[in-house]
Amino acid sequence: MTTGTPAPFTAADYRARMERAARSAADAGLAGVLVAPGPDLVWLTGYHVPADTERLTLLVLAEGQEPTLVVPTLEAPDAAKAAGADAMTLRDWTDGKDPYAVAAPLLGARGATGRFGVSDNAWAMHLLGLQRTLPDTSYVSLTEALPMLRGVKDAAELERLAAAGAAADATYEEIRKTTFAGRKESDIARELADLLRQFGHSQVDFTVVGSGPNGANPHHEASDRVIQDGDMVVLDFGGLKHGYGSDTTRTVHVGEPTDEERRVHDIVREAQTAACDAVRPGIACQEVDRVARQVITDAGYGEYFIHRTGHGIGVTTHEPPYMIEGEEQPLVPGMCFSVEPGIYLPGRFGVRIEDIVTVTEDGGRRLNATARDLAIVG
Ligand code: ZN
Ligand code: ZN
Ligand code: ZN
Repeated sequence: MTTGTPAPFTAADYRARMERAARSAADAGLAGVLVAPGPDLVWLTGYHVPADTERLTLLVLAEGQEPTLVVPTLEAPDAAKAAGADAMTLRDWTDGKDPYAVAAPLLGARGATGRFGVSDNAWAMHLLGLQRTLPDTSYVSLTEALPMLRGVKDAAELERLAAAGAAADATYEEIRKTTFAGRKESDIARELADLLRQFGHSQVDFTVVGSGPNGANPHHEASDRVIQDGDMVVLDFGGLKHGYGSDTTRTVHVGEPTDEERRVHDIVREAQTAACDAVRPGIACQEVDRVARQVITDAGYGEYFIHRTGHGIGVTTHEPPYMIEGEEQPLVPGMCFSVEPGIYLPGRFGVRIEDIVTVTEDGGRRLNATARDLAIVG
């Protein structure tokens, strides 16, 4: 499983993204977009802020205006090294000065009464600082204002997501050969993380190993529990490769499963297959959730499917859009998201099956290809 390293994104790529964001904002009636450190900033500029800093870093985008990054003076050299640095102007501010006074003219240029989209993860402290400085401005969540800004992936992004998915698949193929019985969940989790890195991940975000009753907790942190013969084991792992996410789940069984364990696994697999098969352009996100939920409800386990069916994936492993009741956003070719129904029987065991799916003109295409039958492990 060797795939070449994709060509890095260039300043021109980032400029195109920033222009698109500014244009979409104008189309949505916004004066501009304010981007805080985090996934939006990484996607728009390639700039990974060195630490979760309390100092104001803010990218200001508005149509017809040069993209400008307000940045602390001491971090300006790092910002200048970002892949998208040549596509924007840096405006630094030094400790002791008012950073909002530095940012204000950039917002005022479009009229200080404007409404701005602001990154969901911007610190409240900074938003309050801007509001204090420009009391007639107003703000809306960027995800709410421009839900599809990062949601539709281009070919270069899809190539990275596919590579991350293939690496996660290779990880699963290796882990299912390992011995589970008699080992701690935390040992298997460490092995999963090592494998993800071995297959090219630069970052591991999670390695859920939920054995026996622990599998009934969807986000169980791997513990010191010793895995036993007869356990169901939920394995959910992912992270970033070449800057894009993987996230897959398979449930394995140690030794021969009972009829009930097989039946529950079959129901989840049927729900997952039906939901993946339902994916096509134009249907609402909530429809994917409904299809999976209907299968599980019809089988009598509806109350044990306790989470949404999926989430978007891109430069992060969890992002909009969400496959959840109430989400009416239509599917668009290029969108990528997880399809991960599950059944969780408290105190007993859990089953989840998860693949990343991308929307094409012809329907859904899975970016994970490992077998979805109940693997018997030792
Ligand atoms: Zn069992
Ligand atoms: Zn997952
Ligand atoms: Zn997921």
